[in-house]
Amino acid sequence: MKFSVLASGSTGNSIYVENEDHAFIVDAGLTGKKMEALFAQIDREVKQLSGILVTHEHSDHIKGVGVLARKYNIPIFANAKTWQAMDSLIGNVPLEQRFEWQMDEVKNFGTMDIQSFGVSHDAADPMFYTFHEDGRKLVVMTDTGYVSDRMKGMISAADAYVFESNHDVSMLQMGPYPWKIKRRILSDVGHVSNEDAAVAMSEVIAEKETQIYLAHLSKDNNMKDLARMSVSQTLQSCGIMPGEFLHLHDTDAEKSTPLVLV
Ligand SMILES: [Zn+2]
Ligand SMILES: [Zn+2]
Repeated sequence: MKFSVLASGSTGNSIYVENEDHAFIVDAGLTGKKMEALFAQIDREVKQLSGILVTHEHSDHIKGVGVLARKYNIPIFANAKTWQAMDSLIGNVPLEQRFEWQMDEVKNFGTMDIQSFGVSHDAADPMFYTFHEDGRKLVVMTDTGYVSDRMKGMISAADAYVFESNHDVSMLQMGPYPWKIKRRILSDVGHVSNEDAAVAMSEVIAEKETQIYLAHLSKDNNMKDLARMSVSQTLQSCGIMPGEFLHLHDTDAEKSTPLVLV
């Protein structure tokens, strides 16, 4: 399978995954127009999609869901509580495009299996996805306040990760956000910091070639260089030398990462 992080950050998220005969996006958190432009960057078309997999109802994940689904007649998948929470936000979607994907459910699409798993985040019933084909595994996981042991079990030993590295704790603490919002971000149902992400990575990766895409960076409380540096430093303090078998990659809020094979 191949994937691209079309866009990632606190302003909008979408990850593209394809195999021989299917193509999906996890979330469509930018406007329809921006989503189309991001598809063009990787030389793909929205109309080829087999489905939009929704993680949770926050606007940086669903902004373009309704527009794209209506325009290109694409099925939408989400769990029951997320459907309930996003229904009034995405506009009218015909019944034949509405599909339920339960927590921890595995769905099979040709040679690809996709499994959902729960995360800890302040949304109705947030969940992310792991993709499996030919013994290869891709994990997409952002928007979680911490990485529980159960989650670690779900995401262990993948070949590629889209992994949240949301904020630098001191930037967040010193920054301009109101205390209530700072507390929410730092809480167990907020977002993971650069350091916490790195510690979790060190516990789940296997000793094999592993690509990690640092994702969902906060626009105000993080920077690409800082995220890469602090993840790298924390990994080293956990005994893992980035560049040996583990490789860190940036993602961007407006630019797609190149489509790569997992
Ligand atoms: Zn969220
Ligand atoms: Zn988000």
